[in-house]
Amino acid sequence: MAIRIDGKLISAQIKDEIKEETARLKEKGREVTLAVIQVGEDPASSVYVGNKKKACEYVGFRSLAYELPEETKEVELLELIQKLNESSDVDGILVQLPLPKHLNEDTVIATIAPEKDVDGFHAVNTGNLWIGKECFVSCTPAGIIELLKRTGITIEGKECVIVGRSNIVGKPMAALMLKENATVTVCHSRTQSLKDVTKRADILIVAIGKPHFITKEYVKEGATVIDVGIHRLEGKKLCGDVAFDEVEPIAGAITPVPGGVGPMTIAMLMNNCLEAAKRKG
Ligand code: NDP
Repeated sequence: MAIRIDGKLISAQIKDEIKEETARLKEKGREVTLAVIQVGEDPASSVYVGNKKKACEYVGFRSLAYELPEETKEVELLELIQKLNESSDVDGILVQLPLPKHLNEDTVIATIAPEKDVDGFHAVNTGNLWIGKECFVSCTPAGIIELLKRTGITIEGKECVIVGRSNIVGKPMAALMLKENATVTVCHSRTQSLKDVTKRADILIVAIGKPHFITKEYVKEGATVIDVGIHRLEGKKLCGDVAFDEVEPIAGAITPVPGGVGPMTIAMLMNNCLEAAKRKG
């Protein structure tokens, strides 16, 4: 049976570490502040924003919530971001995605000051990640590195296959695994003989966005399998991109859904925010 990589436990440990450090900063009169902007009332976004606020409360950050109406004009949103960029009280700025269709996400992300871009989506941060400079790293891939390290899984020298090449998961994941000295292959919808490629993986990271896509035929025996996907099935049960029940018996280690990668994303957001505050001095 595979080791179950416990994202709930590891994320709780990380949040507790952040809480302690935040308390130490507070003693020196320094407060950490995250500004969260939501445009419109997408129910899933509201849940994510609510969870981020709760995490801020838990670790001791101040959170500023900006709930803007669906019909907000782009210029108004950009003005708010500029104001937060210039505010010395604000350490991190997060704009909850997706945005309503009339707003250009690229322009919005490009407007956030890179040193406050705690989601790690700004081109300056993604570029710095690839050239090995100090940057904010996208929270989900950063969380996966923590999961692997804190579970004691060796990355260096391992064959790592990532399925998915999105800007927020697949690509930064590839950069991070390279930095950790894995041999990295990135697959996507045009990859041929996907099973042959994924079966080479010592560490298989799946971010496709299709429920139960990765069955046991895609997995080498003993491999570590990281499932980024998250889907709500009918009956409200959550599942990932990996067919957990059939892959678990052959994997060496595996993340469950829920309770694997998901909780790490918010923990790493808190970590980036604390880092932003510390860098500011
Ligand atoms: P995207 O839809 O942006 O990217 C999906 C990727 O999968 C694309 O690169 C696509 O290839 C590739 N793909 C699609 N179909 C296939 C296929 N049949 N074979 C091989 N590759 C394929 O998704 P995200 O990266 O944003 O998210 C992936 C999943 O992770 C989603 O379920 C999302 O909800 C979840 N997620 C979870 C997070 C968490 O905190 N747990 C955070 C972020 C995402 P191509 O580029 O060629 O189109």
